[in-house]
Amino acid sequence: MTNVLFIVSECAPLVKTGGLADVAGALPKALADHGVHVRVLLPGYRTVLAQVQTSKVVAEHSDLFGGPAKILAVKIADLDLLILDAPHLYNRDGAIYGDATGSDWSDNPERFAALCKVGASIAADGIDGWRPDVVHGHDWQAGLTPEYMRGTNTTVPFVFTIHNIAFHGNAPAEKLATLGLDPSRFKSDNFEFWGQISALKAGLIGADRINTVSQTYAEELLTPDFGIGMDGVLRSRQADLSGIVNGIDLSEWNPETDRNIKPFKAPTGKAANKQALRKTFKLGASSGPLCVLVSRLTEQKGIDLLLDALPVLLDNGGQLALLGSGDPKLEVALAKAAENHKNLSVKIGYDEALSHQMMAGGDAILVPSRFEPCGLTQLYGLRYGTVPVVALTGGLADTVINASPAALARKVATGIQFFPINAQALSNAFVRLIDVFADKKMWRVLQRNGMKQPVGWKASSQAYKDIYDTLTEAKHS
Ligand code: ADP
Repeated sequence: MTNVLFIVSECAPLVKTGGLADVAGALPKALADHGVHVRVLLPGYRTVLAQVQTSKVVAEHSDLFGGPAKILAVKIADLDLLILDAPHLYNRDGAIYGDATGSDWSDNPERFAALCKVGASIAADGIDGWRPDVVHGHDWQAGLTPEYMRGTNTTVPFVFTIHNIAFHGNAPAEKLATLGLDPSRFKSDNFEFWGQISALKAGLIGADRINTVSQTYAEELLTPDFGIGMDGVLRSRQADLSGIVNGIDLSEWNPETDRNIKPFKAPTGKAANKQALRKTFKLGASSGPLCVLVSRLTEQKGIDLLLDALPVLLDNGGQLALLGSGDPKLEVALAKAAENHKNLSVKIGYDEALSHQMMAGGDAILVPSRFEPCGLTQLYGLRYGTVPVVALTGGLADTVINASPAALARKVATGIQFFPINAQALSNAFVRLIDVFADKKMWRVLQRNGMKQPVGWKASSQAYKDIYDTLTEAKHS
């Protein structure tokens, strides 16, 4: 049995803003099949504590960055959680990273430093009669963990997974003392980044192994365009960097048992769901493909490119049902576009059940991201016979086989990819989509190929286990 402590800021089904939560919720269950026992250290946000019915206090801190804190051992949804209950840091109205206006909480550095500090103390001293063999931190929120581990005498290895390099978790240099960081390490070859404290960089420097969520993104991260200021650090750590593609939770995303939809086994079974989806989105009948898109609405996700390219889809009988929330400017632009086109319907908000219905009822799922570390919605699409139309980048490049003439002839294609990532190429992809969709036989082949593709955690959880084994064996040899 290998014991692994996850340190992560969100975890499905308890609290989720994006794919990070899905991974933190699903990977521990997949790792259990390989004899790995994961305990997930998670902040006790108000929404999380509201879901806790029974818990055991397994540790207490009298002063954790300005207030008392307890660690609660909780079992929910097959997950073994350690919830950091620190009311002064987490028990508040608003979202998990920011207030109702969308601004980050000003004490985010302390909020996530606290998580790292507690993680480091668990690495050093164990908790509840349990000791991790490996600490596995996710994204910048876990980045300061190795800094705090240095202050203990632990030799437990630290694995750091990058789910999105765009979030750096910077804090002003004045917080060095508040955060209890060693000022002598505030240097450019350490966690200093353009005059600020970078939690992400601390994680990249301090990790024994770094990985990210697809092979292509691991390669992209070494370039200035994708590394977003961290490419130099990553190049210096290239020997310890790898890419492991995300999977999805096959019990939650299963078209044969999904309680949110009319269950189906074969692509033909999607028809009733398509009808229901058109009704939900108030779309009429149309000859072209019914596309869906479920996403945070940000620049990363290429929503502006989509707006520019959409006429090609909508004026040729295609339709789009879109669910998302985020940048207010994009929300307004989408709502306006929907007013002007009967084939476009937009819902602003976050709705888990509706996202399942969209995968079940859509013909195609759009993911026009400028960069995409892995992407999950194209994986849901594959599993539900909803053909992905994606930008050729990151995990989208690794999980979709483009319907090129050769791939179509060999009957191996699963979707449509476009490159370069701009509105013109996306428009061309829409033309191809409409053509392939019109060839019903070919379309079925694409759907069936996708539905057969393994998109679970089987292979990838083994790859994580291999990393843990390498590190623990190295320690003992
Ligand atoms: P990211 O982590 O960058 O947001 P991913 O594709 O990796 O992108 O993961 C996004 C996850 O969040 C998916 O599970 C997706 O279904 C979900 N999601 C995003 N926006 C919404 C929404 N508005 N309603 C429901 N689920 C959403």
